Amino acid sequence: MVVKREIVVLGMGGTIAGRASRASDNVGYVAGEVPVDVLVNECLAGSLDPMAWQVLCEQVVQKDSKDMVFDDWALLAQRVAHHLRRAEVAGVVVTHGTDTLEEGAYFLHLTIPQDLQQAKPLVMTCAMRPASALAPDGPQNLRDAVAAVQDGRAAGVVVVCGGEVHAATRVRKTHTYSTRAFASVGGGVLGYVEEGCVRWCDACATLLPGAGAHVLPERPARWPRVEVLLSYSEASADLIDALLAYQGPNGAVDGLVLAATGNGTVHSALEPALGNAQRRGVRVALVSRCADGALVGAGLEGRAFALGQVVSPYQARIALVLQLLTPSKP
Ligand code: ASP
Repeated sequence: MVVKREIVVLGMGGTIAGRASRASDNVGYVAGEVPVDVLVNECLAGSLDPMAWQVLCEQVVQKDSKDMVFDDWALLAQRVAHHLRRAEVAGVVVTHGTDTLEEGAYFLHLTIPQDLQQAKPLVMTCAMRPASALAPDGPQNLRDAVAAVQDGRAAGVVVVCGGEVHAATRVRKTHTYSTRAFASVGGGVLGYVEEGCVRWCDACATLLPGAGAHVLPERPARWPRVEVLLSYSEASADLIDALLAYQGPNGAVDGLVLAATGNGTVHSALEPALGNAQRRGVRVALVSRCADGALVGAGLEGRAFALGQVVSPYQARIALVLQLLTPSKP
């Protein structure tokens, strides 16, 4: 008897599940409308051998990803881990909006236990055009994501979009409209999906730094508050001062990510306020506002978020929230 293998598709919403009132409208739609099982039935019909594969769908949340909160990603991480632990599951696909996909992917990268990331593929996918479009990109992306699970060789969280496979640590949304909206910084794409086959160009079975570094508590009472600030010409310390003085319903600010110019340079007007923040126990993490490249060199120790690693301000924010919440594993 052939034992069927299972592919789990977890729905988070996004444009891939978006619906517009006119099929010709690629931008005026509502994200997160079409249930994930409907998407899967429409997109995968006839593409999988029913004797060998079965697909299980689960709607985790149904949102425009611009509105994702940490509770959503924590719930996603729980569901991913639950399914990856089941023996019959070959891998998990997550459908997610593009706008914060790199944040969601990074959250999973940092919180899904290493052994699970190593054992089975965890593939996120998305779309730039709604499901209702005349020529949607979601169905192909979903088929490619499923192909990447079937291929079985991926380790670590990957993102499949526009025929490319990106590592969660490298992926960035770089285009507002194109269906090739993602790029990999600091190392290039991991591979390509072509007619249901993955052509890997990198060591696909290697986990990248930080994988599974944080163990999530069951349900955090409060997520640490970390804000992202920028250094630019004529920057003023007023924003930092205002944040330090602010006491919101969820408490005060716990951390600041400063997207610095170039290789970690900061406007002189911000320096005293940042020092003040640190003295008051607020964690300050410096990254670069450049799209690519790591902070390098002496003088940045203790200030740079991850010296020598390519980290976006938004990734640094996710990592800092998790660091403040749970100490990372050695
Ligand atoms: N605003 C949408 C979202 O991120 C955009 C998309 O999915 O392409 O959910």
